[in-house]
Amino acid sequence: MHSTVNESLYVLQDIPGKGKGLVATRNIPKGTRIISEQALFTILDYENLSLDERKRLVCQQFDALSRDEKDTFMSLDNTCPFNDSEEQCFGIFITSRLHLGDGLRFSEESASAGIFPETCRINHDCESNAYNVWNENIERHTVHAIRDIRSGEEITMNYVSNVLKRKVRQTRLQESFGFTCSCRICSLPEAQSQQRDRMVETAIGLDKRAQAMRWESPLEALSCCRTSLMCHNSDERREDADFVTAYGNTAQLFILHGDLARARFFAGKAAAVSRTIFGNDNETTVHFTTLALDPSRHSDYGVSMKWKTAVDEQPQGLGPVDLENWLWEKQFPVGLAGFAILPFNFNIRTGGSPKKRHWCFLGQILDIEHPFEHLVFSIRDMYGEERPLHFCTEEGGREFTTSPYQKGYTVAVIDAVQYPYKFKKPGSQCPIRLEDPRMIKVFPLSLAKMLAMGDQFRRFAIRQHNNLRKCHGCGTNAAADAMKRCGICFSVWYCNKECQIAGWTTKKHKSDCKFLNDPDLRALFLFRWDEAQVCDGFPLRVADDFC
Ligand SMILES: [Zn+2]
Ligand SMILES: [Zn+2]
Ligand SMILES: [Zn+2]
Repeated sequence: MHSTVNESLYVLQDIPGKGKGLVATRNIPKGTRIISEQALFTILDYENLSLDERKRLVCQQFDALSRDEKDTFMSLDNTCPFNDSEEQCFGIFITSRLHLGDGLRFSEESASAGIFPETCRINHDCESNAYNVWNENIERHTVHAIRDIRSGEEITMNYVSNVLKRKVRQTRLQESFGFTCSCRICSLPEAQSQQRDRMVETAIGLDKRAQAMRWESPLEALSCCRTSLMCHNSDERREDADFVTAYGNTAQLFILHGDLARARFFAGKAAAVSRTIFGNDNETTVHFTTLALDPSRHSDYGVSMKWKTAVDEQPQGLGPVDLENWLWEKQFPVGLAGFAILPFNFNIRTGGSPKKRHWCFLGQILDIEHPFEHLVFSIRDMYGEERPLHFCTEEGGREFTTSPYQKGYTVAVIDAVQYPYKFKKPGSQCPIRLEDPRMIKVFPLSLAKMLAMGDQFRRFAIRQHNNLRKCHGCGTNAAADAMKRCGICFSVWYCNKECQIAGWTTKKHKSDCKFLNDPDLRALFLFRWDEAQVCDGFPLRVADDFC
């Protein structure tokens, strides 16, 4: 017998529109190993072989099977046309093969493949309730429930990665498996589907950015990790392999900068999800479990001690809000604070010192309302997420006359927090609640323009370490002392008059200069958000040591 199958958990049954499939015969709790089976046969490095070689090996392996095994094999699905028994055999293999990748299928897929007669009867769903994976440690293919499955519900697995946009997913399923998926998320109305696709795209972009910035800008990498975790983990009842990677990457970032306490927390999260979807005996689970016990054993540990903590430094008994605040205590530089990375509520450990870390939320005004006694802006952040901003100030926003506001303008809110209590609609994300009117300022430009100007500003306004400056006109680096700066905005520097003219016209400084003339905008780009500073709102004071 090839399989250790818990047969009481499911039956093979006709599924309308899908042929046959496996249906749960009783409630299956999340984390249950539904199937653990050996291969009928495997072909090593299958995907890298020539077509002739593949056919030859499949037929050879088939011939070596016992009579019963041959019957089992022949009873499997075949979506390929065939003229003789060899072609039929090969067609079955192509249709039903599973890969022997050892875990996170969206990273690297193994080229080896095999036939697992029970597992391959499970139908596809893009939002599957089970996860299948090859377990190298026990040399079996396993299937685990990744959410609670009700008795009578079909057991499904995902034939492709779950971090794909709808179009890509459907093309891949059509090309590789010959069907059009009509699962719940494939059937979403266009607007909702696009929203989901954007979320997927954001998560992938953030994961890449986190990797790229882990050295150069650890705080930015950290904010990417945090936002990514929220994108990946949008459905709390269900686990999936991409959470393991997202938690694992976060743990690794903390290890890289010496923060063992938080590394342990996130390695533990990765291990817990891994246990649920891969099982205790899976190599990935073993890896993260070991890492959670002693993150300092990771080869990245010891390189940077920027965020050093002891492994047991996590305060005990924190509630969910305090835990969130502790985990993400390190604050984030301007231009990065979207909604998702904002801390909850107040009291981010000020420690009684007048100096503390500050952060700044940026978002564009989409709408202006007065649904309550106070002013409410509907805001979109740089990741495209929309949430309300409530003016819970003494005057309810009426004192807010210094900077005129209108749709399309950008708000900067210092030390903005997510407010999980009042005004939060059920099932929606927390709004921002503003209490101190000094903490907000509206800038008369779009968010995209503001972010682009921030990039420009950092390139041209700030003196480089070697005491050089980049000329905004011709782009060459020259000795800082020899350069002249724009007398209106003080933010760009030039070799000479010609360069200044070139900067004003061809490099379009003309359109930026009037905005940069506002010292608060310059200060926003100059403020050292990653260091403890004194800050009591706008006007924002910074040490003007860039000139
Ligand atoms: Zn689907
Ligand atoms: Zn120049
Ligand atoms: Zn200027």
